[in-house]
Amino acid sequence: MFWDEKTETLPKRDLERLQLKRLKKTLSQVQNVEFYRKRLHEAQVKPGDIRTLADIQKIPFTRKQDLRDGYPFGFFAVPIHEVVRIHTTSGTTGKPTVVGYTRNDLNTWAHLIARNMTMVGLTDQDIFQNMVNYGMFTGGLGFHYGAEKVGMTVIPSATGNTRRQIEMIQDFGVTAVHCTPSYAMHLAEVAEEMGANLESLNTGLFGAEPWSDSMRAELEKKLGVTAFDSYGLSELFGPGVAFECPERDGLHIWHDCYLVEIIDPATGEVLGDGERGELVVTPLVKEAMPLLRYRTGDITMQIEDDCLCGRAKKIARITGRSDDMLVIRGINVFPSQIEHVLLRIPEVGNQFMVYVDRINHLDEMTIDVEINRDYFSGELQDLARIQKKVVKELHDTLELRTTVKLVEPGSLPRFEGKAKRVIDRRSEM
Ligand SMILES: [Zn+2]
Repeated sequence: MFWDEKTETLPKRDLERLQLKRLKKTLSQVQNVEFYRKRLHEAQVKPGDIRTLADIQKIPFTRKQDLRDGYPFGFFAVPIHEVVRIHTTSGTTGKPTVVGYTRNDLNTWAHLIARNMTMVGLTDQDIFQNMVNYGMFTGGLGFHYGAEKVGMTVIPSATGNTRRQIEMIQDFGVTAVHCTPSYAMHLAEVAEEMGANLESLNTGLFGAEPWSDSMRAELEKKLGVTAFDSYGLSELFGPGVAFECPERDGLHIWHDCYLVEIIDPATGEVLGDGERGELVVTPLVKEAMPLLRYRTGDITMQIEDDCLCGRAKKIARITGRSDDMLVIRGINVFPSQIEHVLLRIPEVGNQFMVYVDRINHLDEMTIDVEINRDYFSGELQDLARIQKKVVKELHDTLELRTTVKLVEPGSLPRFEGKAKRVIDRRSEM
């Protein structure tokens, strides 16, 4: 189903023409922002220099730190009285990042959320419970207004009081929920304890943190929903930047509103389709706070093929942050890639530790991984076979030789919260 079929299925040529027109307009809007006037002047880029979409590569990147430095309103391209709402993103250090919206921005945002929700089959017949923070976090109000635009019955239940949330799902016959995947898991457990009946539920929209396909399977089983991944970023409106369609093998990003590039996070070089790197986005329709080539820090790749659902190319689900990237002998390695490889090999567990050393001026990577007793005969020969298999599979994915050490089940550290699986000892030498 489509909310705006004509735009969502624009032929490539028309889409690129629209993108270029909007990019040029964005470039004239940013002239109202001192940071960009200065930055573009230093880079010797004049608005007239952007004649094709590829010319965007002449423009320097914008980083999260730039936005922090502009606190509070340094990136607003319109007078403050035209800004009708402000959100902030939590900063772990220092000041938060402020984002602003004009009336048109809020309309556009709700429209994009409506596209996402319609894409996964939600309609004005649905009863939607929005179980995320309604404060400065964009997920609450963002989804709220999109769901109202579609005409759903919206329950702004926000977070907390899980038993009350479950009662509302039962009593109001809620058909769709939105929350973080970890809260959904908690909800499922409490519902089980309560012996609650959640049979009215059929759709789960989960986002704001990365989650795996095995978690998807568990959530679908426990809650009786079809689960969809949602990706967003407050700097680019908020939630709803990209969303899974019913095919669920990648996320559609709205190309008429966002110009997408994937770069090598270490060098800034633009990568091709199918190459994993950092997502860089230039929003094309924002009024209050236009941005140029914003580095999201999120790792994904572009999937070239058009989707069976009729929309244009997708991005892969986010697999990590560029801050986690390691450069080993000039090759970019993400811990999440190692995790994916290990998940495919039944002979080993999915806990691992990575050690990086510099030996004779060469980077050496050692990976400790736990053996899975169910697939291990106990013979030394079998140990060698498994080790060889892991080394080969890692090599096929990383294109890098590694040393693999098999260790006893349960011997590697377990992490609550953010895992620290990489120990880089190169700087110690
Ligand atoms: Zn699709």
